[in-house]
Formats: sequence, structure tokens, C-alpha cells
Amino acid sequence: MGRAIPHTSSRATVLDVIRAAGTISRAGLAGATGLTAATVSTVVRGLLADGLVNEVGRAESTGGKPRVLLRLAPASRFAVGVHLDAGGTTYALTDLTGAVVSRTAHVGPRDADPAGEPEHTARRVEALVEGAGVDRERLLGIGLVSAAGDAARARELERAAGLPVVTGDDATAAALGEYWSGSAGRSSVLVAVHTGAALGAGVLVDGVPYRGAHGRAGGLGHVCVDIDGPPCACGARGCLEAVAGPAAVTDAARAAGVAGVPGVIGADGTESGGGALRPNGGASVTAGFAAVVRAARGGDPAARALLERSARYTAVAVRTLVGVL
Ligand SMILES: [Zn+2]
Repeated sequence: MGRAIPHTSSRATVLDVIRAAGTISRAGLAGATGLTAATVSTVVRGLLADGLVNEVGRAESTGGKPRVLLRLAPASRFAVGVHLDAGGTTYALTDLTGAVVSRTAHVGPRDADPAGEPEHTARRVEALVEGAGVDRERLLGIGLVSAAGDAARARELERAAGLPVVTGDDATAAALGEYWSGSAGRSSVLVAVHTGAALGAGVLVDGVPYRGAHGRAGGLGHVCVDIDGPPCACGARGCLEAVAGPAAVTDAARAAGVAGVPGVIGADGTESGGGALRPNGGASVTAGFAAVVRAARGGDPAARALLERSARYTAVAVRTLVGVL
């Protein structure tokens, strides 16, 4: 069962406790939220009127009148999540419970170009929503995530789509998803490691994203794992990203001639990956890393060794982060 996330309004708190509980009575809500029975009653009346929750049967009661249970109305509202990664863009339509109703993925750098058109993203959102037959009136907004969590881009998309847009970095969004779905246990501090074209970590403290003084908390990719290691794009040496990140693993696999990795010439003389290699490009890193994973799953010893090495270094960086937290 998922847990409630701290909220500032009693309406949001009640809604989130219902979501986390699955089904719950008004008395249960009062107990879980600390709100008075009268406040719970008023808030629930509003949620019922807006169609956000339904009354579903009655709980067995030990004497007295049976208690009516409340549940979210899944199809009452929807939202779209857009994940911009260097290797492509994923669009997901979710209902009020967070369940994915429809999903599309577009591989390639066109969507991922930071200077890409918000109109293009807005059209894809529109197509997803129409394709699922969802009434636009029920669409709450768009969640836009990328490695950087670009606020300026979010404002542009807001104008193009005519919908509210919230934005954040992909690692923090991944952490919130884990927290929301309850899959990460009950620890007060939660770290989710996210691997896209780069490595990142999202940090939550009591369900609230911890961003640090410059919004860059959880910079797992730039934890030093080898002081004499290779130079990193950030200017330091031996960062996890430079030693064992997706780009480093892909480069090492290419150098080792792992079959299927873009840029590797096969035994038949043709280049793997259809010549899609773009040096230092995000798309090639994502495609290349996926190819290394496929090779490892297929039993390629060099690919396996590279992933195991990457996992060991990542574990060291995670242990460092856990120690600091
Ligand atoms: Zn670095």
C-alpha cells in the first residue's frame, strides 16, 4: 500500500490518504489525517460532488451502523507524464490513481533536443489523450521531466498545450514514483538511482524532494570513485559518471568489440546499430548502453563484466551517499 505525501491543504491530504489506503471510511480518514470528523465530512462531501471519490459498499462493523467506504474514482481525472531523455521521449497518460492508461515512446534525438519545439510536444500529448478517448476536460495537466528539469521549457509547453505543467528532474520524479507507489518501504529518507543517458539520484526526506542549496542534491554521477581516474565533463576526475556511467560503459564495450553495440564492426564487415553512431551524443549513449545490456543478457562475457564493474562502482557511490544522509 502506498503512503500519503505531506500536503498543505486538508483536501489534498484526504485525497492522498484515500489513494494510499485503497478504500477507507470517514472515521479511518480522521484517524489517519488527524483532522476532525467534521472537517473530514466537509472535505469528503466536496470530493464526492467533484466526482473524485466514490462510496463503495460498507465495512463490517462491530456493532453500530456499518461504515461507508470511500475509494478514488480512477477515470475522474487524468494527467500526462512526459519524460525527455537524450535517447528519446516517453509519453504516459495516467488516471487519478496513477495507473498508466496509455503510453507511447519516440526514439531519437528530435524530441530530446533541448531547443526542440514545445508545439511538437504539445501535439504528441494531444494525440495520446485523443487516442485514449479521454475527455480533455478531465485532464489535470502535464508533468515534464528531464535530466535537468528545465523550468523555462515547462513554461513554453504550458503555453503551447494550454495546460498546467509541473517540471522536475527525472531522478527525483523516479523517487517520488517509488514513494507514491509504496514500493520503497517506510524509511524517512529515500534515494532512487536513475540511469538514463546519465546517472542520477533522487532524494526524498519524509516524502518531500530534497534538492539542496543549488537544486543539485543527489548528484550521484559526480561522486568520486577513483581520485586518479579519468577526467569528467564536470572538470573533476574519477567521477562515477566518467568511470562507470552509461557513456563510459558504452565506450568500453565499443573498444572491446561487443557485438551489437553501435560503432562496432561485425564479423560480416557491417557496422552494428545501422550506422546510428553519434560520438558523445545522448541518443547513441542510450542505444549503446541498451545494446550492452542485451549482449550481457545473451551471455556475452565482456558485456557482463562491464556491467558488473559498473554496478560495483555505482554501489560504492550509493554507499557514500547513504553514509552522508
Ligand atoms: Zn564529474
